Amino acid sequence: MRATTAFNKMLAIPGACVAAVTFTPEGIVVDLKRRGKRLRCSCGWSTRAVYDRSTRSWRGLDLGASKLVLRAEIRRLACRGCGRVRTEDVPWARPGSRFTGDFEDVVAWLAQRMDKTAITRLLRCSWAAVANIVARVVADQLDDARLDEVYRIGVDEVSYRKGHRYLTVVADHDRDGAVIWAGEGKKAATLQQFYDQLGQTRTAQLQAVSMDLGAAFKKATDAKAPQARQCADPFHVIALANEAIDKALRWAWNIERDKAKHAAAAAGPKPRGRPPAGSPPPPRDQARWVKHTRWALLKDPDQLKPKQLEVLHELRRTGSVLYRCWQLKEGLRDLYRLSDPADAPAHLDWWLAWACRSRIPAFVALSKTVRTNRDRILAAVELGLSNSKLEGLNSKIRLINHRGYGHHSAAALIAMIYLCCGGLTIQLPTER
Ligand SMILES: [Zn+2]
Repeated sequence: MRATTAFNKMLAIPGACVAAVTFTPEGIVVDLKRRGKRLRCSCGWSTRAVYDRSTRSWRGLDLGASKLVLRAEIRRLACRGCGRVRTEDVPWARPGSRFTGDFEDVVAWLAQRMDKTAITRLLRCSWAAVANIVARVVADQLDDARLDEVYRIGVDEVSYRKGHRYLTVVADHDRDGAVIWAGEGKKAATLQQFYDQLGQTRTAQLQAVSMDLGAAFKKATDAKAPQARQCADPFHVIALANEAIDKALRWAWNIERDKAKHAAAAAGPKPRGRPPAGSPPPPRDQARWVKHTRWALLKDPDQLKPKQLEVLHELRRTGSVLYRCWQLKEGLRDLYRLSDPADAPAHLDWWLAWACRSRIPAFVALSKTVRTNRDRILAAVELGLSNSKLEGLNSKIRLINHRGYGHHSAAALIAMIYLCCGGLTIQLPTER
């Protein structure tokens, strides 16, 4: 069998056959001869008229340990669709790329799974090449049709670059939280860009939008999708309750200290010797005391360690105001653990009455926020919507950063988010 025939069978390049094979120190260079005479523009227009010709090389998947380079004549055409001179499309590579489609698909498949340095070493290409390939494959695979059947979405902000920059991310609740859109920024204008891309007809189909308790996403949704029910994401509501606990800790420390002072004054002179065993440590050092109690109050009661459980018990026994803080926080969390969601309005109203009379400033303030968002909070319970998948995105983005992607620009990070969290399936050349 002739070498050209063997390479023809082995490479099976669409739309071309092998004319010559050269073994060079840089690798195996395969010259291709095009079958068709027609020139195609990426806009779809085609012609037989050649504007000019040149030779171009594409890097292909390695053959054994040898690099493979495909070489072919590439022509330009005066495209009437685009109204200018453009380079023709070739069937084995994406427009503008110096890599074959197969090579790019393998890079994208690996980028979903391993770090960038490993890819550059395995495939002998540069960091910049990997980033460009990811962007090209995502642009090629991302189909506008993903926005067609969208009814219930979740919107959230995610931070990157050590929390200095933000992206707004939209996920489809009905497609297992797959990311369908991401944009730079976290303002109302950012989300409006999504609604604009969705267009009027598809935006009018939206039934529910879950989001945080901030004003930005609400403003954009009020303006663009007023028919959609807005849901306050449970994760953000609970996060506010945890923030209230943190505020109350510092506030309560002052109360405990005053209590200890009064008790000491009433007891007269300080008894000599060591305090009896089991008596709580005097609240002297605020930082230490806060640290001592914080996790006992914040953690899920089912997950408490014996020591933390003891702290909680001690707060209850001594009638600490912090025990009431903990009860209030758990009372709000109970909203999401009701066996019958129909009880939610009554439960929330009971909690609101309790919290606003608690005389704990942080929880009185929280009750005001919750009251303002009452309908949105209850809508989330009724529809069972939560952005938990989106919250997982923050850790996924940390992983993407850790693997060496997304350092350069928001665009590169957005491409990786679509690739890794957008439900894109990259088919390997060996799976076709
Ligand atoms: Zn064109």
